[in-house]
Amino acid sequence: MDVALPALIRGAEVFRLENGVVGSQRADILVEGGRIAGIGPDLPAPDGAAIVEGRGRLAMPGLINAHFHSPGNLMRGAVAGLPLEVFMLYEVPPLAAVGDQKRLAYLRTMLGAIEMVKTGVTAVMDDAFHVPIATAEGVDAICEAYRDIGMRARVAIDQPNVVEYAKYPFLEEILPADIKRRMDEAPRQSDAELLDLYAHLIGACDGAADGRIGAALSCSAPQRVTKPYLHALAGLADKHALPFNMHILETKLQRVFGEEKYGRSLVRYAADEGALGRHAVVIHGVWIDDAEMRLIADAGATIAHNPVCNLRLGSGVAPFRAWRDAGCHVCIGTDEIIADDRANIWDAIKAAGLVHTLADADWHTWPTAPEVLEVALAGGARALGWSEIGALRVGAAADIVLVDMETTAFTPLNDLGRQLVYAENGSSVRDVMVAGSWILRDGRLTTVDERALLAEIRDLSRAFGPQREAANAAARELEPYYREMVLRAHGRDVGMRRRLD
Ligand SMILES: [Zn+2]
Repeated sequence: MDVALPALIRGAEVFRLENGVVGSQRADILVEGGRIAGIGPDLPAPDGAAIVEGRGRLAMPGLINAHFHSPGNLMRGAVAGLPLEVFMLYEVPPLAAVGDQKRLAYLRTMLGAIEMVKTGVTAVMDDAFHVPIATAEGVDAICEAYRDIGMRARVAIDQPNVVEYAKYPFLEEILPADIKRRMDEAPRQSDAELLDLYAHLIGACDGAADGRIGAALSCSAPQRVTKPYLHALAGLADKHALPFNMHILETKLQRVFGEEKYGRSLVRYAADEGALGRHAVVIHGVWIDDAEMRLIADAGATIAHNPVCNLRLGSGVAPFRAWRDAGCHVCIGTDEIIADDRANIWDAIKAAGLVHTLADADWHTWPTAPEVLEVALAGGARALGWSEIGALRVGAAADIVLVDMETTAFTPLNDLGRQLVYAENGSSVRDVMVAGSWILRDGRLTTVDERALLAEIRDLSRAFGPQREAANAAARELEPYYREMVLRAHGRDVGMRRRLD
């Protein structure tokens, strides 16, 4: 992208969220050097400034998708409703032998990025896994796609490195010997190989594209990696002050697994191993108890809430109010396209505003629209470790979304906060600026050729079909054993309910 010229957005309704109240004020926004230089009425335009008419538009902070896995981007609608542990057989086939080519990884990332930018997401945490193994080429392809479209992204390498059956309860006993042998032989990367890749990611990508691209850490989940690797990742998170992604207690089965393998919950295991620090992003946290929430709050960690994914996979309703009462920081993500079918953060925001009404008959405990927006914006900025995003104020990054206020979602305008959470679905987003550069104008991407990219993705996906079919066949072979495991785990009383059964 070119160096951003000064820009003046004239007479927009500028979004404000203060003390739990959403509002707006008509004002100009002056953008210089990629940052917001002024907000107020009748600002003078500096020489050479591009002037954009903001009348009839809401100027709001760029939205943040705080949990996402781009490698699932080609699998929209590919899998029926399945519980996580069975779903993952299709998502990350444990016996897969063939990896992705660089161009496919680039295009796949671009597909999700296009959807996000067009719906107003300007920053994403991409917890990217690689099947069967991670490579520097694959990591670079992901970073390049975000760089080229012009959005902000933190990219992690989400690569488990223990044998498949060691990540689950009961499986070692349930699986036949020949399948266990094939799992033993499936490719896995050593701690040293993965740490070399992290050295590459942090060295080559962190801070790239004028700081728009950043690194993040990921262990996938504490039980999916070796202890020395978990310790090393926690050390890197502290050393470089980078977000450390970990899926924890997304499902009831994972609670049973913690009891079986470690004699305690996976939150306590992560804390005891030194992984639960202030940079930790605890993804899901559905099946956690009050004491574990306090542990997360005391650590200063953030919980990434993905309510659409939790419904799609039947994981349960997260204890949102209890998290907040315990003092946990919370952010919102879509999770991946295979477990949401869209990369549209508005869906997740609306679901967060809806699903917690089921948890308590006392409506005073239900999330309010301003609370959901605060979690999505301020919580997202905190999770990504970028304090300059998530709000429109002087000195903040000029990541600005212009929303058409003359659409059905806002006609008539009764309550801006509630209409953003419950009525808007991203289709009113017209213009998107990141770091002072317009990357979407009047609904069209300015940085990449969307039609050509989508055509190439359709072509390459056809070639990808046979590989996918082989992976699905391998998943189908494993599914009966995983079903037995899941149902056995669900038969146990773990002292809490997160589902209706
Ligand atoms: Zn996830």
